Amino acid sequence: MKILVINAGSSSIKYQLYNMKDESVLASGRVERIGTESAIVTHEPAAGPGVREVSGILDHVTAVRRVLDLLLHREHGVVASIAEIEAVGHRVVHGGETFKASVLVDDEVKRSIRDLFDLAPLHNPAALMGINAVEQNMPNMPQAVVFDTAFHQTMPRHAYLYPIPMALYRRHKIRRYGFHGTSHFYVSERAAEMIGRPIAELKMITCHIGNGASCTAIQGGKSIDTSMGLTPLEGLMMGTRSGDIDPAVVPFVMSKEELTLGEVNSMLNKHSGMLAISGFSGDMREIVEAMEDGDRNAKLAFDMFCYRLRKYVGAYAAAMNGLDVLVFTAGIGENSAHVRKAVCEGLTFLGVQLDETANQRHSKDARFISAPDSRVKVLVVPTNEELIIARDTFRLVSERKAAGDSPVSRGQ
Ligand code: ADP
Repeated sequence: MKILVINAGSSSIKYQLYNMKDESVLASGRVERIGTESAIVTHEPAAGPGVREVSGILDHVTAVRRVLDLLLHREHGVVASIAEIEAVGHRVVHGGETFKASVLVDDEVKRSIRDLFDLAPLHNPAALMGINAVEQNMPNMPQAVVFDTAFHQTMPRHAYLYPIPMALYRRHKIRRYGFHGTSHFYVSERAAEMIGRPIAELKMITCHIGNGASCTAIQGGKSIDTSMGLTPLEGLMMGTRSGDIDPAVVPFVMSKEELTLGEVNSMLNKHSGMLAISGFSGDMREIVEAMEDGDRNAKLAFDMFCYRLRKYVGAYAAAMNGLDVLVFTAGIGENSAHVRKAVCEGLTFLGVQLDETANQRHSKDARFISAPDSRVKVLVVPTNEELIIARDTFRLVSERKAAGDSPVSRGQ
């Protein structure tokens, strides 16, 4: 069975075509700058040369049509007919409290995703555009949706509620949702597999640290707390996002600097984090380079980033009354030995002992970086959110077939 995975943004679509027989990627690519006369299409088949073209692509429907054309292309294509694709899986950022698992798309599901626009005004409308674009190009194609928030729906009330008037939760569903759920789920399962112990026995902390960053406490395979909240702004310091600050900073800055709500929102999301402290970049690679050249502000940004992450690891170890496994993933987690070292150095009290040579070694594979006698196992696990979307879609479609087309849903 071949599954197409789509991650639709407001002006972009990323895609992968999976062969579920061996979970290999047959082709991947993206369409960027949708809505302009100079959209960029990049298509990379697993074997053979890729394509990069610039053309006018004014909407998501046209973008999906172009993707299908490329998948079928005489020279660069990987399927002989669209009928070879059995289902499409979509990444959706916000599933609110409605979606605790991945589901097959129907009118009701689309309505619910629309109802959640308020909670994810930038992301959910784009995902729905992707779903509709597939529907228009491939009528009757089974589609599934996989939510970034779903894995965190196991959090207990004491972890997901904010200590603010309960009426706000009741009326507007203001609470912690958490994000990157598909990634935290994938790396936790993979880590348990590598350790060779049932995940049900393990207390884990997974650190997904890329441009966006979040940290999750996973007990017995279930998310019990996570650092992102109602939106992906809360928690760790990030490339350009502040993470945790005193909420009173918002009205204070608005009054002192005469800023609007929108301006403060933009300041906290786009002009804060490592970018604000370093003064020149929110990109960890550039921060580390400048730090090594003696830039003091870059060093401060690096230290703050690692310090704040280490505090979360300590807090989550306390939340679970122990820690067995610490996992690093995403751009920084997978590639920055400096960050991993700085975080782990302050965690010896928990039983974390890094193997410095293993930490420095570069590899694209999941691996241990803790010393053999470290009580807490530390691993680097490259994330693979697309694979989880493909697997969930495959499972849902297979279950529906087995059940003779009655609607089903399945947890991640
Ligand atoms: P996104 O959240 O956009 O998916 P990524 O997971 O790709 O982001 O992570 C991007 C971050 O990873 C950037 O801060 C980048 O500098 C960092 N990164 C990538 N490679 C390295 C590296 N070799 N050393 C340090 N940081 C790295």
